[in-house]
Amino acid sequence: MPVNLLALTSKKVTDVATFIKENASANKLKYTTEANVTHRMFFPTYVNEEGKEVPYVVATKIHAWGEGSNYSSCICTKGVVVEGTEYDGSCPVCERLNDASEIVRYVKAEKEAACTLVGEARKKFLEDLDKQLWRDRKVSAAQIRYYVALVKLNCDKEGRALVDKDGADKFSIHIASWTKNSMEKFLDALTMQDDEPNIGGREFKVKYGDYNDAMTRVGQAQISVVDVKKALVQEGNELYKEIMAAMEKFDFNHSIELARPEVETKSLVEIRASMNTLFREWDNYKAALAVNPDAKYLEYSNAGTPNTTPDAPSAPAGAITSGAQAGTTGGEVSIDELDKALGL
Ligand SMILES: [Zn+2]
Repeated sequence: MPVNLLALTSKKVTDVATFIKENASANKLKYTTEANVTHRMFFPTYVNEEGKEVPYVVATKIHAWGEGSNYSSCICTKGVVVEGTEYDGSCPVCERLNDASEIVRYVKAEKEAACTLVGEARKKFLEDLDKQLWRDRKVSAAQIRYYVALVKLNCDKEGRALVDKDGADKFSIHIASWTKNSMEKFLDALTMQDDEPNIGGREFKVKYGDYNDAMTRVGQAQISVVDVKKALVQEGNELYKEIMAAMEKFDFNHSIELARPEVETKSLVEIRASMNTLFREWDNYKAALAVNPDAKYLEYSNAGTPNTTPDAPSAPAGAITSGAQAGTTGGEVSIDELDKALGL
């Protein structure tokens, strides 16, 4: 059968081009922090179905799972029922939360029994072990993530405006993925001067310290709101008009999907298979235990002996942690208050 190479290859080139284009825009869209740099950002708004002017924010619950450097994440599907589909309200990750906790308790008890340290050294070892095991457990409970569209203003390292510079882009639009703690820091910056804090339409400076670790950088970030009179983006000014024009062409939902792979709709069958792989040794142990009371679970038996100092593992890429508490100032804000402030 004759093969038309040109037709085949030219199609491939089209696919690659699309792939590169989508990939490039995903990288560009994703909001990233920079060590020792102050970002200046503006939260644009739109008018929602109820006629209210709100910032571009959606919130959903995300699970992280995995081990070693192999981490993944997905939307929690607990309670999500779509008639005639596989979405029956179950969540394959939630179904494994108990197993993950049982593993932590099992491994902790085993290492505690084997630990030969005494006194303070033993206490310290067990405390660190406890922290490490809970932090690195195979699946984590679903945590709320806020996906936010923000406009990063082109500034120097200190957050001073470069908008008048010739040839420089004045701003870029990004999708940030923030925890409740991160969102609260923006609100904390606002509540000092606003009765009804709303990030929409406001400009902020976010000062990132000189930390190589992205988690620490986010945790220690200093967020301050820019006084309305000193803001670069002011309703009606040229920059404001240009941003609004750009936002009119902006597809928020598609941009989140491009920039944040964890929001991709994954099949429950696929996630359940990943869970079964992740918990294979534990499942085998449970099955063996049913017929042999002396059965052992050995998956972690070689890791972190009491006579060595366990290295503090860095947060795995893509894992959702409860981090960003450090450096947070101000009181706790309830989810309701937060949602109200965000206009959700
Ligand atoms: Zn879940």
